[in-house]
Amino acid sequence: MSATGKCLCGRIHYTLEHPSSALDVCHCKNCQRQSGAAFVPFLAIPMAELHLNGSPKAFMDDDTESGNTVARYFCGDCGSPVYVVVEAAPNTAYVAVGTLDDTHDLTPKCHGWTASKQGWVHIADGAPQHEFEPHLQPEAAVTDAGTE
Ligand SMILES: [Zn+2]
Ligand SMILES: [Zn+2]
Repeated sequence: MSATGKCLCGRIHYTLEHPSSALDVCHCKNCQRQSGAAFVPFLAIPMAELHLNGSPKAFMDDDTESGNTVARYFCGDCGSPVYVVVEAAPNTAYVAVGTLDDTHDLTPKCHGWTASKQGWVHIADGAPQHEFEPHLQPEAAVTDAGTE
């Protein structure tokens, strides 16, 4: 199975190999500010399974609560956030889920940074909530791949 997505203008489009349907939902202030939305759901995928067409710009967001620099990739033409890479997990792309073509079977896996959640947002999906940083994806399978 694969999934496809694109930015609003379509100059950046992508295919994800073997995507899960489990979302990491980020309520941090920086995601709110960059997206203009109340929160941003992300789908984590190994970098090698993100096949990107087009040339997103990167904003290196180094003023984060976690202390990690977050590379925020976006379309320089239409402004859509496309994916982010967190310094502590350099082999994982967090794809901004609003850019996916088909979102019908997605389910939140966890919510992070709920300390900055907007007051009107009531989380009713039962997924674990982390007031601050959620646990990042284990990357062992990706980082070990080169040594096999
Ligand atoms: Zn675009
Ligand atoms: Zn965030």
